[in-house]
Amino acid sequence: YELVHKDIRQIVNDTVILLEAQAILNNIEIDSIISEEPLWVFGVENQLKQLFINVLKNAIDAMQGGGRINVRCIREGDLAVVRIEDYGPGIPEEQLSKIGQPFYTTKEKGTGLGLMVSYKIVDNHQGRIKVHSSIGVSTTFEICLPYSRP
Ligand code: ADP
Ligand code: MG
Repeated sequence: YELVHKDIRQIVNDTVILLEAQAILNNIEIDSIISEEPLWVFGVENQLKQLFINVLKNAIDAMQGGGRINVRCIREGDLAVVRIEDYGPGIPEEQLSKIGQPFYTTKEKGTGLGLMVSYKIVDNHQGRIKVHSSIGVSTTFEICLPYSRP
């Protein structure tokens, strides 16, 4: 695995473009607000891509009735922070500790592997991932990675 300094604004942007068609087909609009300044992270590019694809894909899956997904990408001190917020059904409190466990899925055709892999990737990058969910209102996955100037 090659470690590189990467501006994650690019990766997040690419991810949005990659999943945009799927979003549009489901009447979902992805609203992204990306920092003006570079968000440098030191890591494995393909892993970081996989991470944002997994989380954004889950947000799309959650928005069965269509609507808007917010993607926010900003620097907060020594962290590069990406927040992906959807207005789907939310995640019940008792499920919060189960998501990310291998094969845990509530989807008919889910694998239950996406978040496990995502959590591992975040861990590999000395980052943190937090989930805030309010039932019937919104769910936010917050990914914090150490800011690392090249
Ligand atoms: P999969 O997508 O194959 O089900 P994941 O590991 O990506 O597997 O997600 C595991 C479970 O976490 C999902 O089945 C779903 O129950 C829950 N989940 C993840 N993201 C969201 C979200 N944005 N809104 C509601 N539930 C979610
Ligand atoms: Mg998934």
